[in-house]
Amino acid sequence: MFGFTPELVDLSTDFCNLVHMTASTSLTSLVLHGVPVVPGVQYAPVIRPGKLPDIDVGTAADVAEADRAAEGERFSAAAATVATRLRERAGHATGAASEVLAATAMLAQDRAWLGATEKRIKDGAPAVRAVAGAVDQFVDMFTKMGGLMAERVTDLRDIRDRVIAELKGLPEPGVPMPDEPSILCAEDLAPADTAGLDPSLVVALATTLGGPTSHTAIIARQLGIPCVVAVHGLDDVAAGTPVLVDGTLGTVTVSPDEGAAREAVAEAQRIAAQAAKWSGPGATADGHAVAVLANVQDGAAARSARETPAEGVGLFRTELCFLNTDTEPTVDEQAAIYAEVLDAFGGHKVVIRTLDAGSDKPLKFAGHPDEANPALGVRGIRIAEGNPGLLEHQLDAIAAAATSTGNQPWVMAPMIATATEAQNFAAKARDRGLTPGVMIEVPAAALLAERILEHVDFLSIGTNDLAQYTMAADRMSADLATLTDPWQPAVLALVAMTVRAGAATGKPVGVCGEAAADPLLACVLTGFGVTSLSAASAAVQGVGAKLAQVTLEQCRAAADAVLATANAADARAAALAVLG
Ligand code: PEP
Ligand code: MG
Repeated sequence: MFGFTPELVDLSTDFCNLVHMTASTSLTSLVLHGVPVVPGVQYAPVIRPGKLPDIDVGTAADVAEADRAAEGERFSAAAATVATRLRERAGHATGAASEVLAATAMLAQDRAWLGATEKRIKDGAPAVRAVAGAVDQFVDMFTKMGGLMAERVTDLRDIRDRVIAELKGLPEPGVPMPDEPSILCAEDLAPADTAGLDPSLVVALATTLGGPTSHTAIIARQLGIPCVVAVHGLDDVAAGTPVLVDGTLGTVTVSPDEGAAREAVAEAQRIAAQAAKWSGPGATADGHAVAVLANVQDGAAARSARETPAEGVGLFRTELCFLNTDTEPTVDEQAAIYAEVLDAFGGHKVVIRTLDAGSDKPLKFAGHPDEANPALGVRGIRIAEGNPGLLEHQLDAIAAAATSTGNQPWVMAPMIATATEAQNFAAKARDRGLTPGVMIEVPAAALLAERILEHVDFLSIGTNDLAQYTMAADRMSADLATLTDPWQPAVLALVAMTVRAGAATGKPVGVCGEAAADPLLACVLTGFGVTSLSAASAAVQGVGAKLAQVTLEQCRAAADAVLATANAADARAAALAVLG
């Protein structure tokens, strides 16, 4: 169903075994593996963005004191020109593309790095060296902060290259405009490059770096073109090489058999057309109901999710509403935001998650200590301890939104590790008339799910973090992407254990991590017995349509099969063999 013929790629092959033979032609096809971000299959020649020619910044002599002011002005003018160009492009683009370009333009005029560069120029550095040095300084800082901040490193480097090109009188670096449909491959893509893309000419994206929340991923989702990030070996694929990108499997097949590749694209399009017809509600072919819900981050996302067959919201990531907010929003301000989502899904289930601040989603108003290892630090529910009142205010706001809209949401806490944490959270939620649940993202919580269910009314499994913590592998690391794959049998064993606890206590257990967005894995989760699947709006129809094609018995057989495998690729292959 994923568009690959079995001859083209042997799914049971281990991750490291990258070379496959196409049976039909005896041609060798190299299959590169990465992290799937946007589903779909495309076949086309590779294009690559133009790079800034190597510039030796190390040996340039210092600028004479008398000329430093002029050098500083030259730099300011170059940075302003780059920002103006980006703003103009933002004006011509729409939606997320426009926002990304505008944000990059703002970064080009950011006081902190402009100031750092000006200081270097005042100390004698020529403008080009000063720009490179100042950006390196911020890149280091962002990289150490990790998570979302680390993903902004690409934006900074992009600005550096544009400003240096301007200073040197060179053409602006960036993506060439192809004259035929092409697949854009790059180490990473700068937002200013991806934001202006024409999806009829750039039909898929693949990058060596980047995570599922990188700008490349965000823009690919908006353009609706298949995308795979963190692809090992992609840098060796030259421009002009035909490749087959599978954004569902997370593979890039280099120089595949043309006939098989075109067939794979046609098959993927057929599946997408079929999925587009699915109108819910979620159920297997033999009528076993599983609610298919949407993940949202604000009112606008909820309103667009409402246009899909999603039966409700399974995860409202409230922290994403406040990433740029300096001070804690008042209860009234929060209530207005939450009410938008409850209104969009009036009369339907909405699960609101309390702030999952910290680690890759730092909130300025939710202070937490400086930590060497923020993913294992004060994040999620743990933030409440050091920020008295924060959780209580949020629950007050949710209760107020429930009253004003007449839609009673469920509330859940992120990063719960103990039954006592669950108990304390549940008491606070119940005091306000709210239905409490918790996320299962930490192996400790999965292991003791039954004890946690003594206190709360439902569980929602966050497979993104559950994979990270089970496999001891950073979810943002491109190098460890195979370990953080939710198909890892150890992760699935913990999911199965959690679902069994729900069945034993008669309480609902859903999945709201990325695992629920993978149609094949969604069937496996159904086989374990989950009661709901919550995924990005764009994935809702694919999940519902696949579920409607298989029986509960098939789902159960696939669930048994994956637990008996030795790695993620084998688990996927075992499920594919049962579910087709
Ligand atoms: C998860 O961890 O699976 C999850 C849904 O939470 P987030 O991705 O926001 O950390
Ligand atoms: Mg999480």
